[in-house]
This record gives sequence, C-alpha cells and structure tokens, in this order.
Amino acid sequence: MNQFEKIQQLIGSLSPVLPTEKVQLEDAYNRVLQENVVADLDMPPFNKSAMDGYACRLEDIANELEILEVINAGKIASVKIGKNQCVKIMTGAAVPPECDCVFMVEDTEELSENKVRCTNPKTKKNICYLGEDYKKGDVLLKKGKLINVPQMAVLAGAGYAEVLVSKRPKVTVIATGSELVSPSETPKPGQIRNSNSSQVITQLRKMNLEIVAELMLVDDYKLLTESFNKALELNDFVVFTGGASVGDFDFIPEILKEQGFQIYWDHTGIKPGNPMTFSEKDGKFVFGLSGNPVSSFVQFELIAKPVIYKLLGANYAPLRIKAPMNFTYQRKKANRLAIIPVVIDENGAISEIPFHGSAHINALSYANALLEVPLGVSCIHTDELAYVRPL
Ligand code: AMP
Ligand code: MG
Repeated sequence: MNQFEKIQQLIGSLSPVLPTEKVQLEDAYNRVLQENVVADLDMPPFNKSAMDGYACRLEDIANELEILEVINAGKIASVKIGKNQCVKIMTGAAVPPECDCVFMVEDTEELSENKVRCTNPKTKKNICYLGEDYKKGDVLLKKGKLINVPQMAVLAGAGYAEVLVSKRPKVTVIATGSELVSPSETPKPGQIRNSNSSQVITQLRKMNLEIVAELMLVDDYKLLTESFNKALELNDFVVFTGGASVGDFDFIPEILKEQGFQIYWDHTGIKPGNPMTFSEKDGKFVFGLSGNPVSSFVQFELIAKPVIYKLLGANYAPLRIKAPMNFTYQRKKANRLAIIPVVIDENGAISEIPFHGSAHINALSYANALLEVPLGVSCIHTDELAYVRPL
C-alpha cells in the first residue's frame, strides 16, 4: 500500500468526534445532517393536477363536457363529477376522486361558457399520484448527508423546521514564514506576499467552518509555540501553512512532537505537496500544510477536506471521473502520485494548461480539474483515459 492509500485508510478509520446541535432550517445549509430525515406524509399528499386544464373521466374524453366549477390550487371540488362532466382545474389542485384524467388547456376547444371538448383523444392523464414521490415513513435523507440546495427543499417538504446537524468546528489558520508580508504590502527583496491564508481560509469557509483567527508569524520557535497553544484553547482545528518540511526553520513537526501530539502522518506521497502533517491531542486536530500554495491547495482538497468531513460524520465522496486525454503527459520520476491542474474542455477531454509546479498558483485559476497521475506511471498518452477531479 502506498502512502496516499495508507492515509486514505487512516481517514476511513477516524471516528466522528465533533458535537451536534439543533439549528433552524434556514441555518442548515452546508451543515452535516446528524439525523435521518423521515417523511411524515405521503408526497404528493393527494392526487395532484400536473397541468392547467380540465379534469374528467377518461371514458368521456371524446365527448362534449359540461364544466361544473373551477378548482384552484389549495381547493377541493365541492361537487361530484359524473358522466360527460368536468371541472376546470389549475396545476397543483387536487384532482376530484371521480376523475382519472386532466387534459391541458392547450388541448381544448371551448364550445360555450360552460361547455368544452378535448381535442387530443390521446391525452396523457397528467396526474401526479398520491405518494408517487415518497411514502410516509420513508427515509428521505440519511444521517451524514451534507446539506446542499436540494436537501434544503427536502427538509422543508418533510416539515423539518429544526434540523440536527454537526456544530460548526472552530479553526485558526497560522501562516508561517519570515519572508511573508500581507497582501496590502509591497514585498521588499526576499519577501513574498502571503497568499496561503486567503486560499486556505476560503477552503475552510466553503466547508462552513468558523474562522476564529488568522495569524501570520515569523519562523520563531518560541513565538510559534505560544501562539499555537493559545489557538489550541479556542479551536477544534489549527491549520499551519509553511514550516512543515525539514529545513532549519521548519518548526511545525518539532513543535507538535514537543507538545505530545500524536502524528498520524508526516508526508503524503503526492507531488506537489509531500511534506504535510496531521496530528491530534485531546480531541484537537492540527494540519501542517506546505508553504507552496499549489501544494497546500492539493493537500487540503485531497486530504484535509476528507479528514474534516470524516470528523464531522459526513459521507463525503468527491466526484472523480475518467476522461480521455487531449495531450500526452510525461514525467521522469514516477515515485509519487502526481496532481496536475488541467482543463476539461466542452468535449469532456482533458486539456493541458501551463503549470510550472508547486508555487505556480496562477495555473489553478485557469484549471477546472485536477489530473491524477498514479504512482509508478510516467506517461499517459493522448486518448488514454485518466482520472480527473473536477474543482
Ligand atoms: P516552506 O513550506 O515554509 O518551506 O515554504 C515553501 C515555499 O512556499 C517558500 O518558497 C515560501 O516562501 C512559500 N510560502 C510559504 N508560505 C507561504 C504563504 N503563506 N504564501 C505564499 N507562499 C508561501
Ligand atoms: Mg517557511
């Protein structure tokens, strides 16, 4: 088993630890559902007209029909519909029990004020039947589901005005590096703007974590240790960028060891982004991501994100599809899983974009997917199928 597979196995073995809470339905978007959602009614709850038109008995469809009344959505017929009779009915209204057909306004000839005829003898029935979408007692959403837009509608339809979800985890992001200046500054010689914080914080926000603080610190062991300890008190997660490797000023692994953290892994087997730690102590979790922006992006998407979702109890399965190559990819060393920013074009083929490696964050802004080049594979030819992950 290679390192990335080992990490995936370890992620699979993590148990959800983060607490749950009840929230109002309107606050449930982008949370992890922590209860099964069960239908309290059949859906639709009555035979519903799918069209604006006329409801009648199908056996009378060829005949002149007498219009008895008009039924709006929300109303029930007040009369019995007999032979050669009908009601004018609106979409969403309850179809009277004697009727088994609704013909559309578009298929209608109005003969007089209260007489109508269907001009399409092959009309569909145009009825949404009681319980055809789901039945009372059906499990509509399972615990662990990430609540996206359609799930909001399902929750509302099932009467979940309050929803049991995972609490939003708290996180502090610490960008480390004595060369870093903030985006508002002009770097002096040897300095570089801190682009990781904006990137990682946005990745965390998209997952709906609460950003408690955002720090940018020089590579000073004592300062980093003090700030780290403070962050641990207030957060469920701490995310470092930079200083995760083996350079003289890469203090993160050392600090974690000194603080007694259990290190789950210290490298990923991925290129770019090999040095990365994930560690835990007393229910607090720490990611040490690379300093190079593409590396930290990839580490977050492929590893940190599944870890966080697992700890939240979410069933997270990112889309990974096979698509044909529009170019030949070649590399010398095939000792790691390579992740390459690419574009999936309108024909579904994988196209190349300029990419110079782990610092070339600009490349990602043109990409719409990440190509996977498996460990041991040094060449993928044009027209061969390869795995891509849409971004
Ligand atoms: P490190 O992981 O600390 O060895 O940093 C690797 C490379 O990433 C170096 O070239 C750093 O200057 C760069 N780097 C580190 N942190 C950041 C950051 N927050 N934003 C942009 N580049 C960074
Ligand atoms: Mg550094």
